[in-house]
Amino acid sequence: MKNINRFDLLKTVIIVALTTAVGFIFYYFHLSQANIMAVYMMGALLVGAVTPNRWYGVIAAFACVLLFNFIFTEPLFAFRVDEAGIVLTSVITFMSAVLISSYTGSIREHSKRLQKDAYRSNLILEISRNLRNADDPGEILETSAAQLNKLFKRDVVCCRTWNHKMEERKQFTEYTAPRSARGTALDAEKELNALRLCWSSTHSTGAETEVMSDCLYHYSPVKSAQKVYGIIGIRLEKGLDDFDKSLFLAIVNQCAMTLEKEFISRKRQEEAAAAREEQLRANLLRSISHDLRTPLTSISGNAGVLLADSKNLDEAHRHAIYQDIYDDSLWLINLVENLLSITRMEGGSVHLNMETELLEEVIDEAMRHINRHKKGHEIHVTQDGDYILVPMDARLMLQVLTNLVDNAIKYTPEGSQILIHSCKKGSQAVIEVQDNGPGIPDDSKEKIFEMFYTTGSRSGDGKRGIGLGLALCRSIILAHSGTIEVLNNKPSGSIFRITLPAQKGDFHE
Ligand code: ADP
Repeated sequence: MKNINRFDLLKTVIIVALTTAVGFIFYYFHLSQANIMAVYMMGALLVGAVTPNRWYGVIAAFACVLLFNFIFTEPLFAFRVDEAGIVLTSVITFMSAVLISSYTGSIREHSKRLQKDAYRSNLILEISRNLRNADDPGEILETSAAQLNKLFKRDVVCCRTWNHKMEERKQFTEYTAPRSARGTALDAEKELNALRLCWSSTHSTGAETEVMSDCLYHYSPVKSAQKVYGIIGIRLEKGLDDFDKSLFLAIVNQCAMTLEKEFISRKRQEEAAAAREEQLRANLLRSISHDLRTPLTSISGNAGVLLADSKNLDEAHRHAIYQDIYDDSLWLINLVENLLSITRMEGGSVHLNMETELLEEVIDEAMRHINRHKKGHEIHVTQDGDYILVPMDARLMLQVLTNLVDNAIKYTPEGSQILIHSCKKGSQAVIEVQDNGPGIPDDSKEKIFEMFYTTGSRSGDGKRGIGLGLALCRSIILAHSGTIEVLNNKPSGSIFRITLPAQKGDFHE
Protein backbone atom coordinates (compact mmCIF):
# COMPACT_ATOMS: atom_id res chain seq x y z
CA MET A 1 0.00 0.00 0.00
CA LYS A 2 2.16 2.79 -1.19
CA ASN A 3 1.42 6.49 -1.07
CA ILE A 4 -1.17 6.33 1.71
CA ASN A 5 -1.62 9.91 2.67
CA ARG A 6 -2.95 11.08 6.02
CA PHE A 7 -5.24 13.68 4.54
CA ASP A 8 -6.87 11.16 2.19
CA LEU A 9 -7.22 8.71 5.09
CA LEU A 10 -8.97 11.44 7.10
CA LYS A 11 -11.35 12.06 4.17
CA THR A 12 -12.12 8.32 4.09
CA VAL A 13 -12.83 8.23 7.83
CA ILE A 14 -15.09 11.30 7.65
CA ILE A 15 -17.10 9.90 4.72
CA VAL A 16 -17.54 6.51 6.43
CA ALA A 17 -18.58 8.29 9.67
CA LEU A 18 -21.10 10.47 7.81
CA THR A 19 -22.45 7.40 6.05
CA THR A 20 -22.92 5.71 9.41
CA ALA A 21 -24.71 8.82 10.69
CA VAL A 22 -27.08 8.68 7.72
CA GLY A 23 -27.52 4.93 8.48
CA PHE A 24 -28.64 5.84 12.01
CA ILE A 25 -31.15 8.35 10.66
CA PHE A 26 -32.57 5.68 8.30
CA TYR A 27 -32.66 3.23 11.20
CA TYR A 28 -34.48 5.79 13.37
CA PHE A 29 -37.15 6.22 10.68
CA HIS A 30 -37.44 2.43 10.34
CA LEU A 31 -36.21 2.29 6.79
CA SER A 32 -35.15 -1.18 5.64
CA GLN A 33 -31.62 -2.61 6.01
CA ALA A 34 -31.32 -2.63 2.19
CA ASN A 35 -31.56 1.16 2.25
CA ILE A 36 -28.86 1.43 4.90
CA MET A 37 -26.62 -0.89 2.88
CA ALA A 38 -27.19 1.27 -0.20
CA VAL A 39 -26.04 4.29 1.81
CA TYR A 40 -22.84 2.44 2.77
CA MET A 41 -22.27 1.52 -0.90
CA MET A 42 -22.68 5.19 -1.77
CA GLY A 43 -20.12 6.07 0.90
CA ALA A 44 -17.56 3.61 -0.51
CA LEU A 45 -18.19 4.98 -4.01
CA LEU A 46 -17.69 8.52 -2.77
CA VAL A 47 -14.39 7.56 -1.16
CA GLY A 48 -13.30 6.04 -4.51
CA ALA A 49 -14.20 9.30 -6.26
CA VAL A 50 -12.43 11.73 -3.96
CA THR A 51 -9.24 9.82 -3.09
CA PRO A 52 -6.31 9.32 -5.45
CA ASN A 53 -5.79 5.55 -5.18
CA ARG A 54 -7.97 2.48 -4.96
CA TRP A 55 -6.75 1.39 -1.51
CA TYR A 56 -8.90 4.04 0.17
CA GLY A 57 -11.94 2.55 -1.59
CA VAL A 58 -10.98 -0.94 -0.36
CA ILE A 59 -10.50 0.33 3.21
CA ALA A 60 -13.84 2.18 3.05
CA ALA A 61 -15.66 -0.89 1.66
CA PHE A 62 -14.19 -3.08 4.41
CA ALA A 63 -15.11 -0.56 7.11
CA CYS A 64 -18.64 -0.18 5.70
CA VAL A 65 -19.25 -3.93 5.72
CA LEU A 66 -17.95 -4.26 9.29
CA LEU A 67 -19.95 -1.26 10.53
CA PHE A 68 -23.13 -2.45 8.85
CA ASN A 69 -22.73 -5.86 10.34
CA PHE A 70 -21.80 -4.49 13.77
CA ILE A 71 -24.38 -1.72 14.10
CA PHE A 72 -27.36 -2.48 11.96
CA THR A 73 -27.84 -6.25 12.00
CA GLU A 74 -29.65 -7.94 14.86
CA PRO A 75 -28.43 -8.16 17.55
CA LEU A 76 -27.32 -4.55 17.37
CA PHE A 77 -23.70 -3.67 18.27
CA ALA A 78 -22.37 -7.17 17.81
CA PHE A 79 -20.72 -8.97 14.91
CA ARG A 80 -22.76 -11.75 13.38
CA VAL A 81 -20.93 -14.38 11.41
CA ASP A 82 -23.07 -17.33 12.42
CA GLU A 83 -25.63 -17.01 9.60
CA ALA A 84 -24.61 -17.87 6.06
CA GLY A 85 -26.99 -15.28 4.59
CA ILE A 86 -25.41 -12.39 6.52
CA VAL A 87 -21.86 -13.49 5.69
CA LEU A 88 -22.76 -13.81 2.02
CA THR A 89 -24.43 -10.39 2.01
CA SER A 90 -21.34 -8.90 3.66
CA VAL A 91 -18.97 -10.48 1.13
CA ILE A 92 -21.11 -9.37 -1.83
CA THR A 93 -21.43 -5.87 -0.39
CA PHE A 94 -17.68 -5.69 0.14
CA MET A 95 -16.88 -6.87 -3.40
CA SER A 96 -19.45 -4.55 -4.99
CA ALA A 97 -18.17 -1.61 -2.99
CA VAL A 98 -14.57 -2.41 -3.98
CA LEU A 99 -15.52 -2.82 -7.64
CA ILE A 100 -17.56 0.38 -7.78
CA SER A 101 -14.98 2.48 -5.97
CA SER A 102 -12.09 1.20 -8.09
CA TYR A 103 -14.14 1.77 -11.24
CA THR A 104 -14.79 5.38 -10.14
CA GLY A 105 -11.07 5.70 -9.38
CA SER A 106 -10.07 4.50 -12.82
CA ILE A 107 -12.53 6.91 -14.48
CA ARG A 108 -11.00 9.71 -12.44
CA GLU A 109 -7.46 8.65 -13.33
CA HIS A 110 -8.39 8.47 -16.99
CA SER A 111 -9.83 11.97 -16.95
CA LYS A 112 -6.74 13.22 -15.10
CA ARG A 113 -4.57 11.65 -17.77
CA LEU A 114 -6.65 13.35 -20.46
CA GLN A 115 -6.30 16.66 -18.65
CA LYS A 116 -2.54 16.19 -18.38
CA ASP A 117 -2.31 15.29 -22.08
CA ALA A 118 -4.30 18.39 -23.02
CA TYR A 119 -2.12 20.52 -20.74
CA ARG A 120 1.01 19.07 -22.31
CA SER A 121 -0.24 19.60 -25.88
CA ASN A 122 -1.23 23.19 -25.09
CA LEU A 123 2.11 23.86 -23.55
CA ILE A 124 4.05 22.40 -26.45
CA LEU A 125 1.89 24.41 -28.83
CA GLU A 126 2.61 27.60 -26.91
CA ILE A 127 6.32 26.86 -26.84
CA SER A 128 6.37 26.12 -30.55
CA ARG A 129 4.58 29.45 -31.14
CA ASN A 130 7.23 31.24 -29.09
CA LEU A 131 9.99 29.38 -30.91
CA ARG A 132 8.59 30.42 -34.26
CA ASN A 133 9.14 34.06 -33.29
CA ALA A 134 12.75 33.43 -32.34
CA ASP A 135 14.94 33.87 -35.37
CA ASP A 136 18.46 32.87 -34.51
CA PRO A 137 19.73 29.60 -33.01
CA GLY A 138 20.88 31.23 -29.76
CA GLU A 139 17.43 32.76 -29.26
CA ILE A 140 15.66 29.46 -29.97
CA LEU A 141 17.76 27.65 -27.36
CA GLU A 142 17.36 30.42 -24.80
CA THR A 143 13.58 30.65 -25.34
CA SER A 144 13.28 26.90 -24.69
CA ALA A 145 15.45 27.13 -21.57
CA ALA A 146 13.44 30.07 -20.25
CA GLN A 147 10.17 28.17 -20.85
CA LEU A 148 11.53 25.14 -18.96
CA ASN A 149 12.50 27.37 -16.04
CA LYS A 150 9.00 28.88 -16.04
CA LEU A 151 7.30 25.52 -16.29
CA PHE A 152 9.26 23.43 -13.79
CA LYS A 153 10.27 26.29 -11.50
CA ARG A 154 13.79 24.90 -11.34
CA ASP A 155 17.12 26.41 -12.42
CA VAL A 156 17.88 25.71 -16.07
CA VAL A 157 21.12 26.22 -18.00
CA CYS A 158 21.66 26.16 -21.72
CA CYS A 159 24.78 26.27 -23.77
CA ARG A 160 25.00 26.58 -27.52
CA THR A 161 27.51 24.55 -29.53
CA TRP A 162 28.82 26.39 -32.51
CA ASN A 163 31.62 25.62 -34.93
CA HIS A 164 32.71 22.61 -32.87
CA LYS A 165 32.98 24.73 -29.73
CA MET A 166 30.80 25.19 -26.70
CA GLU A 167 29.68 28.75 -26.05
CA GLU A 168 29.29 30.21 -22.60
CA ARG A 169 26.53 28.77 -20.38
CA LYS A 170 23.43 30.86 -19.79
CA GLN A 171 21.47 30.37 -16.59
CA PHE A 172 17.72 30.82 -16.17
CA THR A 173 16.55 31.32 -12.59
CA GLU A 174 13.79 33.90 -12.87
CA TYR A 175 10.91 31.54 -12.06
CA THR A 176 12.78 29.16 -9.76
CA ALA A 177 10.96 28.32 -6.54
CA PRO A 178 14.04 28.57 -4.27
CA ARG A 179 13.01 26.22 -1.48
CA SER A 180 12.11 23.27 -3.63
CA ALA A 181 14.78 23.78 -6.26
CA ARG A 182 17.97 24.72 -4.49
CA GLY A 183 19.45 22.88 -1.59
CA THR A 184 22.99 21.59 -1.76
CA ALA A 185 25.70 23.91 -3.09
CA LEU A 186 26.82 22.59 -6.43
CA ASP A 187 30.28 21.58 -7.49
CA ALA A 188 30.83 23.89 -10.48
CA GLU A 189 33.76 21.90 -11.85
CA LYS A 190 31.85 18.63 -11.75
CA GLU A 191 28.76 20.19 -13.37
CA LEU A 192 30.90 21.62 -16.18
CA ASN A 193 32.49 18.22 -16.77
CA ALA A 194 29.05 16.59 -16.99
CA LEU A 195 27.96 19.26 -19.46
CA ARG A 196 31.08 18.74 -21.60
CA LEU A 197 30.58 14.99 -21.49
CA CYS A 198 26.98 15.42 -22.61
CA TRP A 199 28.22 17.42 -25.59
CA SER A 200 31.06 15.08 -26.56
CA SER A 201 29.05 11.85 -26.07
CA THR A 202 25.78 13.34 -27.43
CA HIS A 203 23.95 11.49 -24.63
CA SER A 204 22.28 12.69 -21.44
CA THR A 205 24.53 13.00 -18.39
CA GLY A 206 24.24 14.10 -14.76
CA ALA A 207 21.34 13.60 -12.36
CA GLU A 208 18.99 10.70 -13.12
CA THR A 209 21.34 9.19 -15.69
CA GLU A 210 24.05 6.56 -15.41
CA VAL A 211 26.85 8.99 -16.21
CA MET A 212 27.99 11.30 -13.39
CA SER A 213 24.67 10.76 -11.64
CA ASP A 214 25.91 12.57 -8.50
CA CYS A 215 25.59 15.93 -10.31
CA LEU A 216 22.76 18.24 -9.33
CA TYR A 217 21.79 18.98 -12.94
CA HIS A 218 20.48 16.65 -15.59
CA TYR A 219 22.01 17.53 -19.00
CA SER A 220 20.27 16.66 -22.28
CA PRO A 221 21.75 17.22 -25.73
CA VAL A 222 19.57 19.25 -28.11
CA LYS A 223 20.31 17.25 -31.21
CA SER A 224 19.07 16.02 -34.55
CA ALA A 225 20.23 12.89 -36.32
CA GLN A 226 23.40 14.60 -37.52
CA LYS A 227 24.14 17.55 -35.29
CA VAL A 228 24.23 18.69 -31.65
CA TYR A 229 22.95 22.26 -31.47
CA GLY A 230 23.37 22.77 -27.75
CA ILE A 231 22.85 21.38 -24.27
CA ILE A 232 19.99 22.06 -21.88
CA GLY A 233 20.46 21.27 -18.21
CA ILE A 234 17.83 21.28 -15.45
CA ARG A 235 18.52 21.20 -11.74
CA LEU A 236 16.99 18.03 -10.29
CA GLU A 237 17.45 18.19 -6.56
CA LYS A 238 14.11 16.40 -6.35
CA GLY A 239 13.56 14.10 -9.30
CA LEU A 240 10.84 14.69 -11.89
CA ASP A 241 7.83 12.40 -12.06
CA ASP A 242 7.23 10.42 -15.25
CA PHE A 243 4.87 12.99 -16.70
CA ASP A 244 7.28 15.89 -16.11
CA LYS A 245 10.16 13.84 -17.48
CA SER A 246 8.32 13.18 -20.73
CA LEU A 247 7.30 16.84 -20.88
CA PHE A 248 10.92 17.92 -20.43
CA LEU A 249 12.05 15.57 -23.21
CA ALA A 250 9.21 16.72 -25.50
CA ILE A 251 10.28 20.36 -25.07
CA VAL A 252 13.96 19.54 -25.69
CA ASN A 253 12.91 17.64 -28.85
CA GLN A 254 10.73 20.52 -29.98
CA CYS A 255 13.70 22.86 -29.54
CA ALA A 256 15.94 20.48 -31.53
CA MET A 257 13.41 20.31 -34.36
CA THR A 258 13.12 24.09 -34.54
CA LEU A 259 16.91 24.42 -34.57
CA GLU A 260 17.14 21.80 -37.30
CA LYS A 261 14.58 23.67 -39.42
CA GLU A 262 16.40 26.95 -38.88
CA PHE A 263 19.74 25.31 -39.74
CA ILE A 264 18.40 23.80 -42.97
CA SER A 265 16.75 27.04 -44.09
CA ARG A 266 19.89 29.08 -43.27
CA LYS A 267 22.03 26.57 -45.18
CA ARG A 268 19.70 26.83 -48.18
CA GLN A 269 19.83 30.63 -48.07
CA GLU A 270 23.63 30.56 -47.87
CA GLU A 271 23.81 28.14 -50.79
CA ALA A 272 21.42 30.30 -52.82
CA ALA A 273 23.46 33.44 -52.00
CA ALA A 274 26.68 31.65 -52.93
CA ALA A 275 25.12 30.47 -56.20
CA ARG A 276 23.88 34.01 -56.93
CA GLU A 277 27.32 35.42 -56.22
CA GLU A 278 28.94 32.81 -58.41
CA GLN A 279 26.46 33.56 -61.20
CA LEU A 280 27.12 37.29 -60.83
CA ARG A 281 30.86 36.75 -60.93
CA ALA A 282 30.62 34.54 -64.02
CA ASN A 283 28.32 37.01 -65.79
CA LEU A 284 30.51 39.95 -64.89
CA LEU A 285 33.61 38.20 -66.17
CA ARG A 286 31.88 37.23 -69.40
CA SER A 287 30.52 40.74 -69.97
CA ILE A 288 33.72 42.48 -69.09
CA SER A 289 35.86 40.34 -71.32
CA HIS A 290 33.45 40.75 -74.21
CA ASP A 291 32.31 44.35 -73.85
CA LEU A 292 35.56 45.98 -72.80
CA ARG A 293 37.36 44.62 -75.79
CA THR A 294 35.34 46.54 -78.41
CA PRO A 295 35.93 50.11 -77.15
CA LEU A 296 39.52 49.28 -76.12
CA THR A 297 40.30 47.96 -79.60
CA SER A 298 38.72 51.08 -81.05
CA ILE A 299 40.72 53.39 -78.73
CA SER A 300 44.02 51.66 -79.45
CA GLY A 301 43.25 51.54 -83.20
CA ASN A 302 42.39 55.23 -83.30
CA ALA A 303 45.42 56.17 -81.18
CA GLY A 304 47.59 54.05 -83.55
CA VAL A 305 46.25 55.95 -86.57
CA LEU A 306 47.07 59.27 -84.87
CA LEU A 307 50.57 58.14 -83.92
CA ALA A 308 51.41 56.81 -87.34
CA ASP A 309 49.70 59.26 -89.64
CA SER A 310 48.60 62.31 -87.70
CA LYS A 311 50.37 64.78 -89.98
CA ASN A 312 48.66 63.55 -93.14
CA LEU A 313 45.14 63.78 -91.66
CA ASP A 314 43.07 66.90 -92.14
CA GLU A 315 41.78 68.79 -89.14
CA ALA A 316 38.18 67.48 -89.39
CA HIS A 317 39.33 63.87 -89.69
CA ARG A 318 41.68 64.27 -86.72
CA HIS A 319 38.92 65.84 -84.66
CA ALA A 320 36.56 62.94 -85.45
CA ILE A 321 39.20 60.47 -84.21
CA TYR A 322 39.77 62.48 -80.98
CA GLN A 323 36.02 62.53 -80.43
CA ASP A 324 35.79 58.74 -80.90
CA ILE A 325 38.61 58.14 -78.44
CA TYR A 326 36.97 60.50 -75.95
CA ASP A 327 33.52 58.86 -76.36
CA ASP A 328 34.92 55.35 -76.03
CA SER A 329 36.88 56.19 -72.92
CA LEU A 330 33.84 57.88 -71.34
CA TRP A 331 31.78 54.80 -72.17
CA LEU A 332 34.42 52.69 -70.49
CA ILE A 333 34.57 54.94 -67.41
CA ASN A 334 30.79 54.78 -67.10
CA LEU A 335 30.82 51.00 -67.44
CA VAL A 336 33.56 50.60 -64.84
CA GLU A 337 31.71 52.97 -62.47
CA ASN A 338 28.55 50.91 -62.85
CA LEU A 339 30.45 47.68 -62.38
CA LEU A 340 32.11 48.93 -59.22
CA SER A 341 28.87 50.23 -57.77
CA ILE A 342 26.88 47.15 -58.60
CA THR A 343 29.37 44.75 -57.04
CA ARG A 344 29.40 46.93 -53.92
CA MET A 345 25.60 47.11 -53.78
CA GLU A 346 25.13 43.39 -54.43
CA GLY A 347 27.77 42.45 -51.87
CA GLY A 348 25.78 44.45 -49.33
CA SER A 349 28.90 46.43 -48.42
CA VAL A 350 27.56 49.78 -49.57
CA HIS A 351 27.43 52.54 -47.03
CA LEU A 352 25.06 55.35 -47.95
CA ASN A 353 26.42 58.82 -47.30
CA MET A 354 23.03 60.30 -46.60
CA GLU A 355 22.74 64.06 -46.65
CA THR A 356 19.77 66.29 -47.34
CA GLU A 357 20.19 67.66 -50.85
CA LEU A 358 18.30 70.15 -52.97
CA LEU A 359 16.86 67.97 -55.75
CA GLU A 360 17.23 70.76 -58.35
CA GLU A 361 20.97 70.96 -57.73
CA VAL A 362 21.51 67.21 -58.03
CA ILE A 363 19.64 67.16 -61.35
CA ASP A 364 21.71 70.14 -62.62
CA GLU A 365 24.91 68.34 -61.63
CA ALA A 366 23.76 65.22 -63.51
CA MET A 367 23.04 67.33 -66.57
CA ARG A 368 26.60 68.69 -66.51
CA HIS A 369 27.86 65.09 -66.67
CA ILE A 370 25.90 64.32 -69.81
CA ASN A 371 26.13 67.68 -71.50
CA ARG A 372 28.41 66.42 -74.24
CA HIS A 373 25.72 64.07 -75.60
CA LYS A 374 23.20 66.79 -75.95
CA LYS A 375 23.96 67.60 -79.56
CA GLY A 376 21.48 65.33 -81.29
CA HIS A 377 18.78 65.47 -78.61
CA GLU A 378 16.61 68.16 -77.12
CA ILE A 379 16.88 68.00 -73.33
CA HIS A 380 14.63 69.97 -70.96
CA VAL A 381 14.63 70.12 -67.17
CA THR A 382 11.46 71.26 -65.37
CA GLN A 383 10.28 71.24 -61.77
CA ASP A 384 6.92 71.85 -60.06
CA GLY A 385 7.36 73.94 -56.94
CA ASP A 386 10.55 75.19 -55.36
CA TYR A 387 13.18 73.67 -53.21
CA ILE A 388 12.44 69.98 -52.90
CA LEU A 389 14.72 68.57 -50.22
CA VAL A 390 15.60 64.87 -50.34
CA PRO A 391 17.89 62.90 -48.02
CA MET A 392 20.18 60.93 -50.34
CA ASP A 393 23.66 59.76 -51.19
CA ALA A 394 24.23 62.42 -53.86
CA ARG A 395 27.05 60.55 -55.59
CA LEU A 396 24.91 57.44 -56.10
CA MET A 397 21.84 59.45 -57.09
CA LEU A 398 23.94 61.23 -59.73
CA GLN A 399 24.79 57.82 -61.14
CA VAL A 400 21.07 56.91 -61.32
CA LEU A 401 20.15 60.12 -63.14
CA THR A 402 23.13 59.89 -65.49
CA ASN A 403 22.24 56.29 -66.37
CA LEU A 404 18.59 57.15 -67.08
CA VAL A 405 19.37 60.18 -69.22
CA ASP A 406 22.20 58.32 -70.96
CA ASN A 407 19.75 55.52 -71.80
CA ALA A 408 17.20 58.03 -73.08
CA ILE A 409 19.90 59.38 -75.39
CA LYS A 410 21.25 55.95 -76.37
CA TYR A 411 17.95 54.28 -77.16
CA THR A 412 16.14 57.07 -79.00
CA PRO A 413 16.93 58.43 -82.47
CA GLU A 414 18.59 61.79 -82.96
CA GLY A 415 16.19 64.70 -82.65
CA SER A 416 14.17 62.99 -79.90
CA GLN A 417 13.02 65.00 -76.92
CA ILE A 418 14.02 64.20 -73.37
CA LEU A 419 12.35 65.75 -70.33
CA ILE A 420 13.62 65.52 -66.74
CA HIS A 421 10.72 66.55 -64.55
CA SER A 422 10.60 66.68 -60.76
CA CYS A 423 7.86 67.48 -58.26
CA LYS A 424 6.67 66.69 -54.75
CA LYS A 425 3.65 64.48 -54.10
CA GLY A 426 2.74 64.31 -50.42
CA SER A 427 5.77 63.08 -48.56
CA GLN A 428 7.46 61.79 -51.74
CA ALA A 429 9.75 63.48 -54.21
CA VAL A 430 9.07 62.29 -57.76
CA ILE A 431 11.62 62.44 -60.59
CA GLU A 432 10.68 61.40 -64.12
CA VAL A 433 12.98 60.92 -67.11
CA GLN A 434 10.72 60.95 -70.18
CA ASP A 435 11.56 60.41 -73.83
CA ASN A 436 9.57 60.12 -77.03
CA GLY A 437 11.63 57.29 -78.52
CA PRO A 438 10.40 53.79 -79.46
CA GLY A 439 9.48 52.90 -75.84
CA ILE A 440 9.86 49.54 -74.10
CA PRO A 441 7.63 46.54 -74.90
CA ASP A 442 5.29 45.57 -72.02
CA ASP A 443 6.81 42.12 -71.56
CA SER A 444 10.28 43.67 -71.04
CA LYS A 445 9.19 46.33 -68.55
CA GLU A 446 9.99 44.33 -65.40
CA LYS A 447 12.94 42.48 -66.89
CA ILE A 448 14.94 45.56 -67.89
CA PHE A 449 15.71 46.10 -64.17
CA GLU A 450 17.31 42.66 -63.96
CA MET A 451 21.05 42.37 -64.24
CA PHE A 452 22.43 41.63 -67.71
CA TYR A 453 19.03 41.99 -69.35
CA THR A 454 18.99 43.93 -72.59
CA THR A 455 16.14 44.16 -75.09
CA GLY A 456 18.68 43.69 -77.84
CA SER A 457 18.03 47.12 -79.35
CA ARG A 458 21.18 48.80 -80.52
CA SER A 459 22.05 52.12 -79.00
CA GLY A 460 22.45 55.16 -81.25
CA ASP A 461 26.27 55.00 -81.06
CA GLY A 462 26.22 51.35 -82.12
CA LYS A 463 27.58 50.03 -78.83
CA ARG A 464 25.87 47.04 -77.26
CA GLY A 465 24.70 47.65 -73.70
CA ILE A 466 25.46 45.02 -71.08
CA GLY A 467 22.32 45.45 -69.01
CA LEU A 468 23.82 46.77 -65.78
CA GLY A 469 22.64 50.39 -65.73
CA LEU A 470 18.99 49.88 -64.73
CA ALA A 471 19.80 47.04 -62.31
CA LEU A 472 22.15 49.43 -60.55
CA CYS A 473 19.53 52.20 -60.58
CA ARG A 474 17.04 49.90 -58.91
CA SER A 475 19.56 48.74 -56.24
CA ILE A 476 20.43 52.36 -55.43
CA ILE A 477 16.80 53.50 -55.29
CA LEU A 478 15.78 50.54 -53.10
CA ALA A 479 18.67 51.31 -50.75
CA HIS A 480 17.12 54.79 -50.43
CA SER A 481 13.70 53.22 -49.59
CA GLY A 482 12.34 54.55 -52.87
CA THR A 483 10.75 53.00 -55.96
CA ILE A 484 11.56 52.97 -59.66
CA GLU A 485 9.24 51.93 -62.49
CA VAL A 486 8.89 52.36 -66.21
CA LEU A 487 5.68 53.58 -67.86
CA ASN A 488 4.58 54.29 -71.44
CA ASN A 489 4.87 57.87 -72.61
CA LYS A 490 2.23 59.33 -74.90
CA PRO A 491 2.15 59.12 -77.90
CA SER A 492 5.37 57.07 -77.75
CA GLY A 493 8.46 56.56 -75.64
CA SER A 494 9.09 55.71 -72.01
CA ILE A 495 8.87 57.38 -68.65
CA PHE A 496 11.22 56.23 -65.90
CA ARG A 497 9.64 57.33 -62.64
CA ILE A 498 11.54 57.45 -59.34
CA THR A 499 9.97 58.21 -55.98
CA LEU A 500 12.06 59.00 -52.94
CA PRO A 501 11.06 59.92 -49.37
CA ALA A 502 11.35 63.72 -49.25
CA GLN A 503 12.53 65.76 -46.30
CA LYS A 504 9.63 66.96 -44.16
CA GLY A 505 9.08 70.69 -43.72
CA ASP A 506 9.93 73.72 -45.84
CA PHE A 507 13.27 74.99 -46.97
CA HIS A 508 14.26 78.49 -45.91
CA GLU A 509 17.30 80.04 -47.49
P1 ADP B 1 22.36 48.75 -71.02
O1 ADP B 1 22.00 50.13 -71.41
O2 ADP B 1 23.77 48.62 -70.60
O3 ADP B 1 21.91 47.71 -71.99
P2 ADP B 1 20.40 49.08 -69.01
O4 ADP B 1 20.14 48.25 -67.79
O5 ADP B 1 20.67 50.51 -68.80
O6 ADP B 1 21.57 48.37 -69.73
O7 ADP B 1 19.15 48.93 -69.95
C1 ADP B 1 18.54 47.68 -70.16
C2 ADP B 1 17.74 47.67 -71.45
O8 ADP B 1 16.61 48.53 -71.34
C3 ADP B 1 18.55 48.24 -72.61
O9 ADP B 1 19.22 47.19 -73.24
C4 ADP B 1 17.49 48.86 -73.50
O10 ADP B 1 17.08 47.90 -74.44
C5 ADP B 1 16.33 49.15 -72.58
N1 ADP B 1 16.19 50.61 -72.33
C6 ADP B 1 16.67 51.31 -71.30
N2 ADP B 1 16.29 52.60 -71.36
C7 ADP B 1 15.56 52.72 -72.48
C8 ADP B 1 14.84 53.82 -73.10
N3 ADP B 1 14.86 55.06 -72.61
N4 ADP B 1 14.18 53.55 -74.25
C9 ADP B 1 14.15 52.30 -74.79
N5 ADP B 1 14.77 51.24 -74.23
C10 ADP B 1 15.48 51.43 -73.11
